[in-house]
Amino acid sequence: MNDILPEQTPVWQFLESAVKSVLAGYGYSEIRMPIVEQTDLFKRSIGEVTDIVEKEMYTFDDRNGESLTLRPEGTASCVRAGEEHGLLFNQAQRLWYQGPMFRYEKPQKGRYRQFHQIGVETFGMASADIDAEVIMLSARLWKKLGILDAVTLQLNSLGSNEARAEYKDALVAYLSERKDQLDEDSQRRLQSNPLRILDSKDPQTQMLLNDAPVLSEYLDQESKDHFAELCAMLDQAGIRYELNPRLVRGLDYYCKTVFEWVTDKLGAQGTVCAGGRYDGLVKQLGGRPTPAVGFAMGIERLILMLETLEVVPEAVKQPFDLYLAAEHKGLQKQLIVLADKLRDQLPEMRIRVHCSGLKNINNKARQSGAPWVMLVREENDSLMANLWYNTEPQFDIAEEQIADVLHQQWLQKT
Ligand code: ATP
Ligand code: MG
Repeated sequence: MNDILPEQTPVWQFLESAVKSVLAGYGYSEIRMPIVEQTDLFKRSIGEVTDIVEKEMYTFDDRNGESLTLRPEGTASCVRAGEEHGLLFNQAQRLWYQGPMFRYEKPQKGRYRQFHQIGVETFGMASADIDAEVIMLSARLWKKLGILDAVTLQLNSLGSNEARAEYKDALVAYLSERKDQLDEDSQRRLQSNPLRILDSKDPQTQMLLNDAPVLSEYLDQESKDHFAELCAMLDQAGIRYELNPRLVRGLDYYCKTVFEWVTDKLGAQGTVCAGGRYDGLVKQLGGRPTPAVGFAMGIERLILMLETLEVVPEAVKQPFDLYLAAEHKGLQKQLIVLADKLRDQLPEMRIRVHCSGLKNINNKARQSGAPWVMLVREENDSLMANLWYNTEPQFDIAEEQIADVLHQQWLQKT
């Protein structure tokens, strides 16, 4: 679980504000859920036989002896909240959320125990246009962030429950004959959750799967049509994708569309965004049948990408625009007041006032990292400001003109 330090938060804010503006452009509404839920909610939604529920949840008893879990993902909480507040049945909802998720995993690059997701969930829309919309929305975000060329969309259809059941039988028959070649987890899953074997990261199991039956050959007609419509819309929108017949998701509740945005820039942890359709989940959690599509993106992995590809504008990393300092100590009180007047007149400008020792103040100010520096001194009983821009001296400004000149200069240079 990581601290996110002051030098890193500007990049986080840059990413978060890009996501917010894209989501606003599609008319999505934010929902905020608590970070703990009853353990049972995750068991029933994610599935008992999944990595998350089997070995990754932070679960504890509260003082009443009730089992609670730090949320490992947001979809279950979102469905729970939607049901509880009557947002789902017979309605069309487009929701998003952000926040920390918790999974007890082996920490490594791109994989942490507290990590952050921004998630999107839509409810009440059954046809493929909403699948297309959420994918288009994510593509627009990559474009806005300048990373579209570094990610690839992988797409698959999991079909209906019945089609998947038929496929499951075929897969189990094929793998049972080769059981001794499977990794330990997969051997166990052969009984309990064979589809998850497709997701195994064990190289030998992966090899075996190369010749295994593929799900796409077992799809029902409705799922095939739905998938064809989605592909046609993505083609029209100019969004490239790869069909990946082995793509399944690590959670049980998906059906029909599944997708992942993957990158080769981050090593092993290559999935930056993953999602799909989960028409059965609302009913499974006790609601009335409600179609749903969503995805979640991993913020840490996206941040790593932004940094690796060096796409964050330099200006974003500067925490303030103007460094304001006095040349001698007696002026400190006036300086604080002057700074606040400047904030009235230039509300956009981010001003940091120097408040400690004045030794070497000229150098300190210029090394502050701010593009603008203003050093204030006293001359003939009034203030005089010396303005610098990127370590180049600009003007000496008399007190009554400080705000105006600064404003003009600021407009010119930004
Ligand atoms: P993986 O196969 O990498 O374990 P997952 O299938 O468990 O991923 P999801 O539950 O689909 O992941 O979560 C969506 C996204 O959240 C992932 O694609 C990834 O970007 C991010 N994510 C998941 N687990 C972690 C983690 N432990 N640390 C950082 N990011 C994570
Ligand atoms: Mg995982």
